[in-house]
Amino acid sequence: MRETVNVESLTRWMREFARAIKANKDLLTGLDSAIGDGDHGINMDRGLTAMVSAMDEHRPSTVAVLLRDVVAKTLMSAVGGASGALYGTFFLRMAVAVGEGEAIDAVAFATGLRAGLEGVVHRGQAKVGDKTMVDALGPAIDALDAALAEGAGLGAALLGSALLGAALRSATIAADAGRDATTPMLARRGRASYLGHRSVGHQDPGATSAALLIAAAATAFADVPG
Ligand code: ADP
Ligand code: MG
Repeated sequence: MRETVNVESLTRWMREFARAIKANKDLLTGLDSAIGDGDHGINMDRGLTAMVSAMDEHRPSTVAVLLRDVVAKTLMSAVGGASGALYGTFFLRMAVAVGEGEAIDAVAFATGLRAGLEGVVHRGQAKVGDKTMVDALGPAIDALDAALAEGAGLGAALLGSALLGAALRSATIAADAGRDATTPMLARRGRASYLGHRSVGHQDPGATSAALLIAAAATAFADVPG
């Protein structure tokens, strides 16, 4: 498979994520007002704005340097709250998993996302069904893996086309469904868990931002052949 994911395309992904968070800042803050402390949109927008500034200043030479020194580091220091530590961990683990190359292929990208998810689960101890960002990320990464495996199974016919873009569109559908599935759930992790049964009937803010992260990847990699 071709090494189509590089510093340039990952930067495009992060800029698109920052744009989507800004556009949905009030929605995220409103969701967090219902079952948290009302800062998720503000936290994420502050952190991602800082990340875009850091990307404007630095030209990282490898994907790992971008993900670790620019993305993870800025999110950890500038987002704040539970989500800052969790998103920071996600990109830190992803950086370690992708290695020190200048570019990676679609499967290595998916492996990196899986490592990021495992880092979030390890740090936050949430599983699917606990009403957190894991409810969007888990199904999305499962769908991505399945779509890439199916594409590889079809062989050469698909390898030259936009396999990663198509796989990320499947992942986005799964992330959105996972996000929507948090509404009837009882929160078992994070601030929302303090509400007990009063958390039922509200969409989780972190699952909502995580679905935007996956959708941003589908947008950023739409035209990248993989
Ligand atoms: P805080 O709760 O510290 O105010 P945010 O409002 O920025 O942080 O983020 C809240 C979101 O973080 C939740 O909606 C949830 O998706 C996610 N979250 C909180 N705790 C955990 C956890 N232990 N594991 C996974 N995700 C979590
Ligand atoms: Mg909050």
